[in-house]
Amino acid sequence: MKLATFTHAGATRIGVVDGDEIVDLSAAAPELPTEMVAFLEGGCEAMETARAASSGGPRIALADVRLEAPIARPPKFLAVGLNYADHVAESGMDTPEYPTIFNKQSTCVTGPNDPVHVPKASHVLDYEGELGFVIGRRGRHVSRDDAADYIAGYLVVNDATVRDWQFRIPTWTMGKSFDTHGPIGPWIVTSDEIRDPHRLDLRTYVNGELRQESNTKQLIFDCFTLVEHLSTAFTLEPGDIIATGTPSGVGILRKPPQLLKAGDVVRIEIEGIGEIENPIIDEPDDTAR
Ligand code: ZN
Repeated sequence: MKLATFTHAGATRIGVVDGDEIVDLSAAAPELPTEMVAFLEGGCEAMETARAASSGGPRIALADVRLEAPIARPPKFLAVGLNYADHVAESGMDTPEYPTIFNKQSTCVTGPNDPVHVPKASHVLDYEGELGFVIGRRGRHVSRDDAADYIAGYLVVNDATVRDWQFRIPTWTMGKSFDTHGPIGPWIVTSDEIRDPHRLDLRTYVNGELRQESNTKQLIFDCFTLVEHLSTAFTLEPGDIIATGTPSGVGILRKPPQLLKAGDVVRIEIEGIGEIENPIIDEPDDTAR
């Protein structure tokens, strides 16, 4: 299933995308929560209810709805630095012994087609196309062999980054967490539809120009290894999102560097999942609320 969060006629709720239509789960299965994290907390039972309801429920044309971030406020939004062999090579770094885990603040999440801001504080804005996975079940000390059972599905992430803020202090939290710098979507493709998450083509385009082209087989620490590693330290919870890292071709390492500016459009596609496409705009004056 493709699980989406959408807005139609003034109400935001979840649905199942089928071709160019979306099944409105709030109508097809009114007993289910209408918010994605609450839905994921329902586990296999909620998933089966959605699956059964999606075959016969009322449908809305996808063109008539606004797709929102599938998870508006993930409990945790974690990411991994230097996790593609090709990106490690372009960075001139050694292959890391441990995953470089960092946080994106959950307030940076935005929708699959929403604008991404060039912040007032910096113009050094970059893209990072990434495969993300979504936790579907609480887990601590999950072994790599069992990890697949804890992943509800996969989505596309742009780990948008303010490079000067990322590198001017030892931790990346600020540079990775500006508001709007976490576009995700366009929906969550459930794990049963992704035969092998470590064999997916990934492409990032800026204004139609191909900037990143890789495959998740290049991941150094794969999704299952990351579940084991993370859950060694803390409990993973339904709705947590883990962005698995970006391949080569980021703007800052191009020669000369090609950073994002207002008017650009960033499109990231992952095989078997879909694409997100976000326009870049200058941070508006009304963000101080
Ligand atoms: Zn990243």
